[in-house]
Amino acid sequence: MDEYRKALTVWYNHSKRELPWRDSHDPYNIWVSEVILQQTRVRQGLEYYHNFLKKFPNVRILAEAKEEEVLKVWQGLGYYSRARNMHHAAKTILAQYEGEFPEDYISIRNLKGIGDYTAAAIASIAFSLPYAVVDGNVFRVLSRLFGIPTTIDSSAGKKEFYSIAQMMLDTSRPGESNQALMELGAILCLPDQPSCLNCPLMKKCYAFANQSVSEFPVRSKQAKQKGRYLNYLYLYNEEHIFLEKREDKDIWRNMYQFPLIETSDPFSAEEVANSDAWITLLANLNFTLEIISPEIIHLLSHQRLHIRFFTIRLNDAKHPDHLLVAGKAEISRYPVPKPIENFLIQMGH
Ligand code: SF4
Repeated sequence: MDEYRKALTVWYNHSKRELPWRDSHDPYNIWVSEVILQQTRVRQGLEYYHNFLKKFPNVRILAEAKEEEVLKVWQGLGYYSRARNMHHAAKTILAQYEGEFPEDYISIRNLKGIGDYTAAAIASIAFSLPYAVVDGNVFRVLSRLFGIPTTIDSSAGKKEFYSIAQMMLDTSRPGESNQALMELGAILCLPDQPSCLNCPLMKKCYAFANQSVSEFPVRSKQAKQKGRYLNYLYLYNEEHIFLEKREDKDIWRNMYQFPLIETSDPFSAEEVANSDAWITLLANLNFTLEIISPEIIHLLSHQRLHIRFFTIRLNDAKHPDHLLVAGKAEISRYPVPKPIENFLIQMGH
């Protein structure tokens, strides 16, 4: 993760937008900015941020204000419960902490209207505490960067994203690290047409490499994708790789692939190796099964492909007659699906 963090930090320090709450370590200012920006675009939020701080420059003044005054300053911003909750929380801070913002995550999280995201933002930016923030921008960046197929709107998904965000966090500079990831999502890794060519993480990005940026993040309405289990047999000998042309009228028609054993359910590697298709294909051949790859998930718009590669060395010149014999040096001339292209690259072709 170090490489990701370094690239992100360098980019952030060059490219971040100058915003008034940036580089502030005042928890009150950070709180105000985070709450205003929850449902609001930065440009509109800026004016409210300045007006709010002018009218209520600190927790005490906010706590002692009338609710109508707070709502008035909030007018036009919508989601008025945000303003009411802030007012309530300010009173709590005044009553329980003598007007000083609490400095630990749990106490911050317990304030009215402050959820995981805002608590992590305040804790990390104001107090350098190692809590990762996960907002819509972060979901989008992480899902694309690592090709995470888990839905972001499920509780399992949220858990997974939180733990990955936590791993990404530079705990020596958590505030800057969190802001860098959010900024990347806000100005480059946009929902539509992200600026991948300007992205500091492009070379490491799963979605970019697989031309599947629009497939991420995955939402639950996409969760009912059909699952398919593709077991590719990478058959090779000293000079050749053996291919077949994909004739099926579904995906990747007329592209080339390794001999395929597809199952509708998740078969174990042993089950695949004992299947009729395997026995028929490899009958009477002198071969060595060298490696079975871990499963790779490849998402298409309505299908989730579970892909595994079996690397099989043919120990003499015999091979299945119906397969196309491709010279290793010419393999790159054949159009192949992206997962096979990636596999061939890994194998040094
Ligand atoms: S390369 Fe593109 S999709 Fe990947 S993280 Fe960067 S902007 Fe997002």
